[in-house]
Amino acid sequence: MATSAIKLENVSFSYPMSEGEEHKAVNGVSLDIEEGSFVALVGHNGSGKSTLAKLLNGLLVPTSGRVSVYGADTADDKKIYEVRSSVGMVFQNPDNQMIATNVEDDIAFGPENLGVPREEIISRVDWALEKVGMSEFRNATPFKMSGGQKQRLAIAGVLAIKPRVMVLDESTAMLDPKGRDEVMSVIKQLNREEKMTVVHITHYMDEALEADRLIVMNEGKIVLDGKPSDVFAEHELLTKIKLGVPCVTQLAVTLAKAGIKVDPRTIDEEVLIDSLCKLL
Ligand code: ADP
Ligand code: MG
Repeated sequence: MATSAIKLENVSFSYPMSEGEEHKAVNGVSLDIEEGSFVALVGHNGSGKSTLAKLLNGLLVPTSGRVSVYGADTADDKKIYEVRSSVGMVFQNPDNQMIATNVEDDIAFGPENLGVPREEIISRVDWALEKVGMSEFRNATPFKMSGGQKQRLAIAGVLAIKPRVMVLDESTAMLDPKGRDEVMSVIKQLNREEKMTVVHITHYMDEALEADRLIVMNEGKIVLDGKPSDVFAEHELLTKIKLGVPCVTQLAVTLAKAGIKVDPRTIDEEVLIDSLCKLL
């Protein structure tokens, strides 16, 4: 059986509000994130994605229910160090994640804070730079880099902590298409080659297609959870909660509705092109 990296049991979270009002940002979520999986999480603004992300590494603790990371309860103060080093987080704005004026120092910051020995830090910095394809930027100034490069640097900084899980909260949202591709290829490679568990929050459906598993949130709850092709087959529900489907799926659905014999569940451009060519 697959190992569970992170387990959520009936987790709810409410931000403190005035006058005893209660609004559950996350509402009764149960979820098991398997070690080595690549999970994409989508949902429109305010659906609770960022709150859920922060619950995964103890930045927030549940109002009710339980989150455990490799068995460690995130609400247990004695385990918080273990939890934070197991689950690394990359955020949206690349400019808010840089700490040092030099790439090497920036990556070394995390392990230094954890008291990792000097020699080990040097080898981790080398390794992390290589993993994000930025070895030649070792002595560069982060502030001068492109958005995609800055986000790869942020990923390297998290990698240097040697987490087992990486959570990316809309880390491609502020990037241009080239930057997005750079970041996506780094996270795919980390998942495939380093067997790192990845939770990727995004509003780009094309990115969500790349995951093994796609989770859709709406109003603090999980409304769909499955293989991306199965999830995108639910286009009516997705439209109802104001989410799109990938371009290729939208096209396939429209063609199928017009009576053209293509599979409306298509998520692969090549497959759609093939079926169209056969018809012509
Ligand atoms: P998403 O990341 O999907 O946009 P969030 O988790 O940021 O969703 O927000 C979920 C809900 O919690 C929203 O209604 C939002 O307004 C509310 N919320 C988020 N952060 C805070 C906060 N710091 N204080 C109060 N309410 C918040
Ligand atoms: Mg968010």
